[in-house]
Amino acid sequence: MDPRVQQFMALIKGRNPGENEFHQAVQEVAESLIPFIEENPKYKYARILERIAEPERTIIFRVPWLDDKGDVQINRGYRIEMNSSIGPYKGGLRFHPTVNLGILKFLAFEQVFKNSLTTLPMGGAKGGSDFDPKGKSDNEVMRFCQSFMSELFRHIGSDTDVPAGDIGVGGREIGYLFGQYKRLRNEFTGVLTGKGIEWGGSLIRPEATGYGNTYFAEEMLSTRGDSIEGKVVCISGSGNVAQFAAEKVTQLGGRVVTMSDSNGFIYDPKGIDAEKLKFIMELKNVKRGRIKEYADKYSVEYFEDKRPWIIKCDIAMPNATQNEINEDEAKTLVKNGCICVSEGANMPSTPEAVQVFLNAKILYGPGKAANAGGVATSGLEMTQNSMRLPWTREEVDARLHMIMKSIHATCVRYGTKDDGFINYVDGANIGGFVKVANAMIAQGVV
Ligand code: NDP
Repeated sequence: MDPRVQQFMALIKGRNPGENEFHQAVQEVAESLIPFIEENPKYKYARILERIAEPERTIIFRVPWLDDKGDVQINRGYRIEMNSSIGPYKGGLRFHPTVNLGILKFLAFEQVFKNSLTTLPMGGAKGGSDFDPKGKSDNEVMRFCQSFMSELFRHIGSDTDVPAGDIGVGGREIGYLFGQYKRLRNEFTGVLTGKGIEWGGSLIRPEATGYGNTYFAEEMLSTRGDSIEGKVVCISGSGNVAQFAAEKVTQLGGRVVTMSDSNGFIYDPKGIDAEKLKFIMELKNVKRGRIKEYADKYSVEYFEDKRPWIIKCDIAMPNATQNEINEDEAKTLVKNGCICVSEGANMPSTPEAVQVFLNAKILYGPGKAANAGGVATSGLEMTQNSMRLPWTREEVDARLHMIMKSIHATCVRYGTKDDGFINYVDGANIGGFVKVANAMIAQGVV
């Protein structure tokens, strides 16, 4: 490792002990940025890297609620307000039993760069709870969300901090959270994004991360005169991002052969077409069932406790969670002829896996660029809320498409190496950094 990176990481690890995912995310960025900062010393003198890795504010709170039996349950709530130099804090809420401070700090840190890349005025944040919505009744989810918002409301606002969804937080949860915020503040504002279409939501927001991820893959492929048409695609996850990535890939002529959940994956070599995808959407969004039921219904193979990366494909779209592709799986993907990895999830590839993709010089789009379509469309939802005017589906989709092209162009600008290879990791990290860093310098030591 570069000794300058090593020195910086010693500082980060000393100040943030035990927060492994946070260390991982910061190190990846530091590896891109430290050489860049050496060439641009104004960032060094202002100690931007040290400042950008320290949250502006961390809020941790108790979330007590009553389950259906009348028993008291206690969870922990968080909001990490990482950086507000280019706009109000913005980033999702995650409800999952694995949630802890280190995971949310990694997500908030990534969000700062991602939001900057979108070209929209949004700072970075992330939050959530170790609450597990799985197996809970709607009433339990509602009571939890109301309790969570009863503390969070004092820290957020449409010009201060605007949360959205993430793992375990979809339309249902956003609805309960918004209802409680409105009740406490007596204000109908765009304080959350991902709202229902009848009450301030934007068309295309549910589709945006998956569609954007697919548009980004298409842009990467176009640099090699290629496209998604006719390609075999492995997708992981079967939640919001995975569903709409599958929809868009299929629309563009690709064949999606896998989807998964935390118990295993299904392999459908004929492809998960529009009709089969409808079954998955109903299964996951309404019945809240397991992906295995797809295998039972369509008589395809189900791989219990396995991830899809053992299946031969042209394109991989990891759309479930962090660190879901390890070094061996990355090697298997490359060996099987995979030419493109477009990350819908945040940090789904381990550092060793990323190195495999970069060494093989395949098209590798890191999450902070490839999945930025979600937050970009959240930004468009905020714009529509401020104007009090909704845009059409076509208009929002066209803007999303334009933003993904612009993010890709930024990556190409900052990531193209002497031999012409585009290192999208460097491109996204440096491209996302410059705007935030310049704003921090302009605003002084705050
Ligand atoms: P959902 O909750 O809708 O879906 C998550 C999917 O991933 C489910 O299929 C879930 O399976 C699976 N999953 C979750 N945790 C694990 C795990 N530990 N191991 C294996 N599988 C797991 O979330 P989203 O689709 O919204 O989010 C997916 C990823 O995309 C996350 O990394 C998120 O941060 C990222 N992302 C999301 C954005 C958005 O707009 N929603 C924006 C940008 C990034 P199961 O049902 O079994 O839990």
